[in-house]
Amino acid sequence: MSKRSAAGKKPQTKLGHLGRDPALYRGFVNPPAYRGSTVIFPTFASLVADDQEFSYGRICTPTVKELQESLAELEGGDACFLSSSGLSAITAVLLAFVEAGDHLLVTDSVYKPTRRYCNEVLKRLGVETTYFDPMIGAGIAELIRPNTKLVFTESPGSQTFEVQDIPAIADAAHKAGALVAMDNTWATPLLFKPFDHGVDVSVHAATKYIVGHADAMLGAVIAKGDRCVEALAAIHDAGGMCPGPEDVYLGLRGMRTMGVRLERHQASAIALAEWFAGRPEVERVLHPAFPDCPGHALWKRDFLGSSGLFSVVLKPMSKQALAAMVDDMELFGMGYSWGGYESLILPFDPRAYRSATTWDAKGPSLRIHAGLEDLDDLKADLEAGFERAAAKS
Ligand SMILES: *Cc1c(COP(=O)(O)O)cnc(C)c1O
Repeated sequence: MSKRSAAGKKPQTKLGHLGRDPALYRGFVNPPAYRGSTVIFPTFASLVADDQEFSYGRICTPTVKELQESLAELEGGDACFLSSSGLSAITAVLLAFVEAGDHLLVTDSVYKPTRRYCNEVLKRLGVETTYFDPMIGAGIAELIRPNTKLVFTESPGSQTFEVQDIPAIADAAHKAGALVAMDNTWATPLLFKPFDHGVDVSVHAATKYIVGHADAMLGAVIAKGDRCVEALAAIHDAGGMCPGPEDVYLGLRGMRTMGVRLERHQASAIALAEWFAGRPEVERVLHPAFPDCPGHALWKRDFLGSSGLFSVVLKPMSKQALAAMVDDMELFGMGYSWGGYESLILPFDPRAYRSATTWDAKGPSLRIHAGLEDLDDLKADLEAGFERAAAKS
């Protein structure tokens, strides 16, 4: 089956068949990682007309095209642009839709480096950012000004997991003539369909579940509608935001197994979250599929499932006890970039950077990524961690 017949099939089938056409690659199942800068034009007439499908390695290669088309099709967008990281995909979106004198609305739960770009770079360029409570819903209408061009959402927040009312936010934004962008990394193109909920542009840190093995950096922007596609094509082209060939190849390879990996990540994360909920050390579990999570009902209404990342708020515990727990984990690594096959544990404190909302948890918080390891082994590792913490306090 070629990629042309994959369109219209179910998502798991698409994952295996989009973005490859053995007939184009002498029968080989996978398209190769095209390494290339120069593309040769056959004639002067062709050069002048710029009529080749590929013209320069930075702009596009066959490998890039395969993954771009696959992700656009999976999410239901009109076009996809790959970049060298999730963050560069985010900055492309911000730069595509605002200019000096404009106003930007950004969720208070946003990925921290997105906030830094707004507060440092966009501010210097004369763009003002207001942060909004992720639970604001239709109330966002009150924050929209005549010069508000873009509302940037991220649902759920990747540390605090508030699920946002994207349709209500999009409705208010569109009524005022503003566009809506969404960081959809947590749900991947499989578990939330941004364009069915009013989003104009979605962004993915493909570094996470799409690559899926913690071995490459990659970003993707997916756009709906001619206006958004044209603005993004211009910024992507002018900015030279190309990813490396191996990383694109790893993105295509990761995509093949993303569906089965996500099923396992989802099941293990839910099982671990249930386990945490029953522990005496735990104050609260922040997982969109659990009723304690802000916006749980919205998750139930709008999402097709959950991935492997969630948080727990612990009851107060000393720094030494927390360190004793996380320092000697056998299986859970302490690191930022999630979405790989391995389990992670990360203490965090959003108090330092929130501005529109407060974080009033009394104890420390842990962000957990449920990897693909055996569930009993993971629970045993966490249980030993709590025992080390108890021995220190
Ligand atoms: C990791 C992450 C990013 C940034 O992606 P990089 O590829 O690391 O630059 C953006 N948004 C979210 C929600 C993330 O988790």
